[in-house]
Amino acid sequence: MLTNDQLSQWDRENFFHPSTHLAQFARGEMDNRIVTGGSGVHIEDRDGNRLLDAFAGLYCVNVGYGRTEISDAIAKQAKELAYYHSYVGHGTEASITLSKMIIDRAPKNMSKVYYGLSGSDANETNIKLVWYYNNVLGRPEKKKIISRWRGYHGSGLMTGSLTGLELFHKKFDLPLTQVIHTDAPYYYRREDLSLSEEEFTRQCAENLDALIQKEGPDTVAAFIGEPVLGTGGLVPPPTGYWEAIQAVLKKYDILLIADEVVTGFGRLGTMFGSDHYGIEADIITSAKGLTSAYAPLSASIVSKKVWKVLEQGTDEFGAIGHGWTYSAHPICAAAGVANLKLIDSMGLVANAGEIGHYFKNAMTDALSGHPNVGDVRGEGLMLAVELVKDKDTRAFLDTSLLSGAKVATALLKRGVIARAMPQGDILGFAPPLCLTKGEADTIVGAMSEAVREVFDNA
Ligand code: PLP
Repeated sequence: MLTNDQLSQWDRENFFHPSTHLAQFARGEMDNRIVTGGSGVHIEDRDGNRLLDAFAGLYCVNVGYGRTEISDAIAKQAKELAYYHSYVGHGTEASITLSKMIIDRAPKNMSKVYYGLSGSDANETNIKLVWYYNNVLGRPEKKKIISRWRGYHGSGLMTGSLTGLELFHKKFDLPLTQVIHTDAPYYYRREDLSLSEEEFTRQCAENLDALIQKEGPDTVAAFIGEPVLGTGGLVPPPTGYWEAIQAVLKKYDILLIADEVVTGFGRLGTMFGSDHYGIEADIITSAKGLTSAYAPLSASIVSKKVWKVLEQGTDEFGAIGHGWTYSAHPICAAAGVANLKLIDSMGLVANAGEIGHYFKNAMTDALSGHPNVGDVRGEGLMLAVELVKDKDTRAFLDTSLLSGAKVATALLKRGVIARAMPQGDILGFAPPLCLTKGEADTIVGAMSEAVREVFDNA
């Protein structure tokens, strides 16, 4: 067996890690962690640490680690048939069964599933489908896509453009010209603090309407949004938000893409975030929770309305020119089938709702009195603690203090993994959906101590 030192050296010499300060990592100024195993909500590393993963990897290991029901299904599929493509009508029992299971669980207006391997590629597919849709309908000018500041939709060329976080644009020549951003539905950070939630919602909808008018309604094709903002700070929408936004989109015949990469398959305590907020999307993006990340798989779930036009398009122009070698990969599809069965048999959707409620209340009780905790917010098992310099003015902490990262490090010392979100001093929690009350208490206890260590001893 290789020694830790050997692995660490090879890691720094050869491995290009995503979302990493490359120079610091290569120079050995940042730690690495070599993960070896996992069980339930815990992972283990080569240094012998056992950590409670309160971010479920990247909010994806929804059923928890070490579920043999899924690994056995993967092994069985790999032995029987590791690969066949899904072009021109080819399928496997796994990919056909999974499609049926997804459509059975999705909102009623959904019709078909196209498979990719990541949330990013699914959103790339979705934008292509939107463009194709408008071309088939004879509206070649209707192509712009509106997303929100602080939205996260991936880091490809189009999806990195849709993402409304500066880090993903800077020095990459993004966003592309077809993408426009509108307000983040971020009530805590509203400019006018005197606005009620309802008034803020109205403002978001009015600003969206004005943006569409300015761009020209005939040039705007789609709006994309996460039911609850994820990477942008785990922010549930203000009261009435989705209803108000959908009314504007309907007025201008603009398609709605619900990016449910994080919220799909249970995280908010409902099967989809669309069910939770009464969103009637034209396309739903799903990934992470579809296989609980036991294998890479994403799904573009297409509504009946869009599907009808896609069929019309292929009647007029021939087979659709979109497809990837690994679409509906049998091993990933087998993981998906086993994962969705497990979500049902373990009752994880209901658990996410119940424990999410308990977790948020416990975190609020423990931390909301602290002078540097500005906001504790969440929905289901998505929870955020936003740190501030001054509670009354909501002034940001000096970014050079790296307060969010320091709290995450202090949590790690206590055996808990949370995520310091990329924009703002926000600690994100999105544990596996099998979290128990006792485990929620452990996270809250560690978080209380970590916040006090960083601020009260500063
Ligand atoms: N959409 C949302 C809402 C996400 O949170 C993510 C990833 O975190 C993506 C898309 C991109 O998914 P991937 O990282 O699998 O490309």
